Amino acid sequence: MLRNDWNRTEISELFDQPFNDLLFQAHTIHRQHFEPNTIQVSTLLSIKTGACPEDCGYCSQSNSYETPLTPQKKLQLAEVLTAARAAKDSGSSRFCMGAAWRNPHERDMPYVLELVREVKAMGLETCMTLGMLDSSQAERLADAGLDYYNHNLDTSREHYNNVITTRTFDDRLQTLDHVRSSGMKVCSGGILGLGESRNDRVSLLHELATQPIHPESVPINMLVPIAGTPLQDAPKVSVIEWVRTIAVARILMPTSYIRLSAGRESLTDAEQALCFMAGANSFFSGEQLLTTPNAGESRDAILFEQLGLTKEKVKVDVKATAVNAMAV
Ligand code: SF4
Repeated sequence: MLRNDWNRTEISELFDQPFNDLLFQAHTIHRQHFEPNTIQVSTLLSIKTGACPEDCGYCSQSNSYETPLTPQKKLQLAEVLTAARAAKDSGSSRFCMGAAWRNPHERDMPYVLELVREVKAMGLETCMTLGMLDSSQAERLADAGLDYYNHNLDTSREHYNNVITTRTFDDRLQTLDHVRSSGMKVCSGGILGLGESRNDRVSLLHELATQPIHPESVPINMLVPIAGTPLQDAPKVSVIEWVRTIAVARILMPTSYIRLSAGRESLTDAEQALCFMAGANSFFSGEQLLTTPNAGESRDAILFEQLGLTKEKVKVDVKATAVNAMAV
């Protein structure tokens, strides 16, 4: 049974269990809702890089910090479509496009709507992360066929102001409300290693798991420290704690895809296997995420072979002309 009434004490108690007990519980729940040897694979492309007016304390793309990143204007439609075709050919079922904006300007809407329509027409699921949306923008993206909108909460409400000051936690929740109301699926999670405590991780998962409908996709990222950002020397969070967080997310939100995102390239194969055992069943392929490095495709192919994993395929429902992910 799906629950939206978890309380923090229950979530803390899940975290505090002996590791094997937590893993067993999470994996049992995972098997009840998903094919356990199938991973959903997405490809991420930055369609506009850097010069972002927001001040997220971990991000290489923020205008507020001196980082090694070179800003890049919007990509041309043809460049994006070439990347989407390559993603499809390499087995990705979803193509995610990210722009470093506070929010899309109205002048950018025709561009992003066209991208959605064209990528969708290739038979890929579509996802975008463009910053805050108002309700009209969310509706237009949904009408164009956007399947998922990503907007992470990043961290707990309590720790949030230590990481970002240019928009509030409630601004984020409002964008998620607009996305949900538009009929698009919600992709929302957080980042570990932002100087937060265990209680903050409990609070972040509490916020996600008590949404009226759980986000369909929940990225659990690990900070990739970027020189020049305020969080470049933030205390490291252990891999065991990352696996625990994935396992607790799996128990709280049994039907959501739990995505192993930024930081995955730092994990050994055995550590990635542990994350899958804990309930992670989605990741990004390719050498790079928006701006940080990622585990490459050749390494992933070996990992899939070793673990006996397969990639989730996209099934096009011709009658409804909707694109649904189907485990095979
Ligand atoms: S995380 Fe996104 S919104 Fe924040 S600074 Fe980076 S690009 Fe901008």
